[in-house]
Amino acid sequence: MSKSYIGAGGEKMTDCIFCKIVAKELPADIVYEDEQIIAFRDVKPVAPVHILVIPKRHIESLQTTDSTDDQLLGALMGVARQVAKEQNLAGYRVATNIGKEGGQVVKHLHLHVIGGRPLSDLPALG
Ligand code: 5GP
Ligand code: ZN
Repeated sequence: MSKSYIGAGGEKMTDCIFCKIVAKELPADIVYEDEQIIAFRDVKPVAPVHILVIPKRHIESLQTTDSTDDQLLGALMGVARQVAKEQNLAGYRVATNIGKEGGQVVKHLHLHVIGGRPLSDLPALG
């Protein structure tokens, strides 16, 4: 059964993969979840640890947030720090792609948490 999700602007997010993961309509290897945030392993990892941290609410990208989202943005970074700690990463990268030119493919805000190997050879993300 197909469900709709109401986006920040009131639009319906029927086709958003990450909204479907939030709704547990698509399977994911979830490593963290609270009321407003969920984190799960990337389906195509570029390193031994590659976790995506996302808000449960559909937000297109960092660029469509404003100062009223600052608590949530801080909380996303806090979850990135926590999952990195749980994965025992000595060093890691947190990144978010914004827009097509920024390399964003999935249009639901997400932080990539990438580590578990030296990342010096990883110029592009996503
Ligand atoms: P972007 O390029 O938008 O910054 O990153 C999107 C990320 O989502 C990519 O790294 C891609 O591998 C991951 N991804 C896309 N579809 C799925 C999916 O259905 N499940 C999971 N776990 N990851 C996905
Ligand atoms: Zn979404």
